[in-house]
Amino acid sequence: MKTAVVTGGAGFLGSHLCDRLITEGFRVICIDNFITGSPDNIAHLFGNENFQFIKHDVTNFIHVPGKVDYILHFASPASPIDYLKLPIQTLKVGSLGTHKALGLAKEKNAVFLLASTSEVYGDPLIHPQNEDYWGNVNPVGPRGVYDEAKRFAESLTMAYHRYHGLQTRIVRIFNTYGPRMRLNDGRVLPTFIGQALKGEPLTIFGDGSQTRSFCYVDDLIEGIYRLMLSAEVYPVNIGNPDEITIKQFAEEVLQLTGSKSKIEFHPLPEDDPKVRQPDISKAKKILGWEPKVSRNEGIKKTLEYFMKIIK
Ligand code: NAD
Ligand code: UDP
Repeated sequence: MKTAVVTGGAGFLGSHLCDRLITEGFRVICIDNFITGSPDNIAHLFGNENFQFIKHDVTNFIHVPGKVDYILHFASPASPIDYLKLPIQTLKVGSLGTHKALGLAKEKNAVFLLASTSEVYGDPLIHPQNEDYWGNVNPVGPRGVYDEAKRFAESLTMAYHRYHGLQTRIVRIFNTYGPRMRLNDGRVLPTFIGQALKGEPLTIFGDGSQTRSFCYVDDLIEGIYRLMLSAEVYPVNIGNPDEITIKQFAEEVLQLTGSKSKIEFHPLPEDDPKVRQPDISKAKKILGWEPKVSRNEGIKKTLEYFMKIIK
């Protein structure tokens, strides 16, 4: 039986990854300090003999006894309001946390997979974004704490690969949504859905002409699982290229929820990327992967989850 360590395993994506790995027959060791995650996300796994949880801040030395085959490093605040509130912790988990997780991978001779982000492209000057683009990031802006931490994490991962011969993988994740997101995590999808369900105004930042491309969590996890089993060392974009403006998205949420909420316009946050759409040619070619769940279908599944937790 193979063993996988998932840092940030009590978070939104990490918990779905733990589920998938358990289903695939792995023994899973989940490490999390609950800074933005929750025990609720993994409660259903407690009692499973192949699941183990360690409460630990991964910016400190990580000790895991026994053999480990894979380390998936997902620990990091991920929503803009989280990382703006936790700037130092975000920089620390992207730098020191990645260093500790890589150190563990080296010690165990395990395959290491880094959860990176489309934010490494910053406010992109090419569209859609492919993996060869180096990005347009403001290091001293408020979002820099997240973007630069992830850029450093990618760089450190490549150094461990080149210098120590470690087997490494880097996934650049584009905006992903689904059950277990927190309604109040500040990201646009749960925010709009929460506002629509409560009859509150939907808060569009700027004029709503900025675009995003939303990927349903099951599609993302499938892509990550394939990447983990592949031999690709260089970054791979995983996301859904179906691009939409934030204004159109607000209207779509109103229509799907049947809500009578109004739309309100608020100032655009500093350095908010104007466009974002993954070029997934590489994932298609080397992983045979592409997303399967439409936004309509994915939002309906996510709505069911939010309605359950709201009442
Ligand atoms: P999340 O906040 O739900 O999960 C992050 C988890 O990491 C939480 O459970 C948190 O408690 C844990 N964590 C943070 N710092 C830690 C530390 N020092 N030690 C131990 N645990 C720590 O966010 P998410 O959306 O699940 O994101 C997971 C990963 O995927 C992050 O690395 C994020 O950068 C990346 N990512 C997510 C998206 C997305 O759309 N959700 C997009 C791009 C990248
Ligand atoms: N946004 C918005 N209203 C909100 C929250 C977010 O209009 O209540 C916008 C935000 O300015 C950005 C987009 O929606 O342009 C996506 O924001 P999110 O925080 O989900 O993630 P990002 O892609 O910016 O990391």
